Amino acid sequence: MRKYDLQISPSYKGEVKRSLLSIVTPAYNEAENLPLLYERLVEVLDSLTIDWEWIVVDDHSADKTFAAIANIAKRDSRVRGIRFSRNFGSHTAMTCGLHYAQGDCAAIMAADLQDPPETLPELLAEWNEGAQVVWAVRKRRPGEKASKIGFARLYYFLMRQVVGMKQMPATGADFFLIDRRVIENLSNFNESNVSLMALITWMGFRQAYITYDKHVRSHGRSGWSLEKKLKLVVDSLTSFSYLPIRLMSYIGFIVALLGFIFAGFVVFNAIFGHPTPGWSSLMVVVLVLGGTQMLMMGGLGEYIWRSLDESRRRPRYIVEEITDRNI
Ligand code: UDP
Ligand code: MG
Repeated sequence: MRKYDLQISPSYKGEVKRSLLSIVTPAYNEAENLPLLYERLVEVLDSLTIDWEWIVVDDHSADKTFAAIANIAKRDSRVRGIRFSRNFGSHTAMTCGLHYAQGDCAAIMAADLQDPPETLPELLAEWNEGAQVVWAVRKRRPGEKASKIGFARLYYFLMRQVVGMKQMPATGADFFLIDRRVIENLSNFNESNVSLMALITWMGFRQAYITYDKHVRSHGRSGWSLEKKLKLVVDSLTSFSYLPIRLMSYIGFIVALLGFIFAGFVVFNAIFGHPTPGWSSLMVVVLVLGGTQMLMMGGLGEYIWRSLDESRRRPRYIVEEITDRNI
């Protein structure tokens, strides 16, 4: 089961086949962070008995992110940069990175040094013991606003309790390692509007967890706008749960039933000489029903829109440039 031996000294050049680890990093406006991350990766990984490659997917940054990675790639052939033709979001960037990854396993980590490379040996040790998905669960998130942590908590609560993905860590996971088998199976999925982490959790496999302290962002600002976060929530819910649609039917049924009972009362009172007075109750009913209907139509629309988007079969991403290749 052992995939590589952590005990062998780096100078040992025997016939033991060395495994290849791919590090996949989505990057959006991270020009200042990438050289720092590179140095840390070299420091940590070169002391291990494992080969590695680093794939950075530039999610169409507005700064010099691609130049920064091209610069490193020129000096180190283990490093490769891929630039998207427009901003596709970090989950799509990770998917693209995994497509190009050749490793026996791949670790996904952010470019902003919030996920410390020093955690990689721990992730590798779990993989070495046979785990196929290893989540690095964050213990602490220093320097983050309470609103941000609250939003993340709510998201992972919905994913665990509403969607039913109990294996998702409650405090969230955006740093993880997956085995080649998982990478290969992921390539069979062609969904565009989906959370990569939710998809990996849904796939199953032997999952393991380690914990780490998330660090403060090294340079720049978070690229996750409120709009992107909301889209992730709706994507995650609609990709893995029919509950919203089912709730629509249930609520619709109950509201309609109450409406009929109320109508019965109105008719009954009118016939027996006590007509229900006032227009305010009518307004209430109109507003409540109107509101519920719009909400439900919106919910349905979410599913229909996604179905339309998937049926168009547009490419999930478009590559503009690759550091070591003319495309
Ligand atoms: N990212 C990306 N595309 C985006 C937004 C973010 O590729 O549209 C990258 C970003 O460069 C970073 C990772 O995704 O490497 C995590 O993003 P960020 O640090 O902004 O998120 P946060 O840590 O605030 O959740
Ligand atoms: Mg970050």
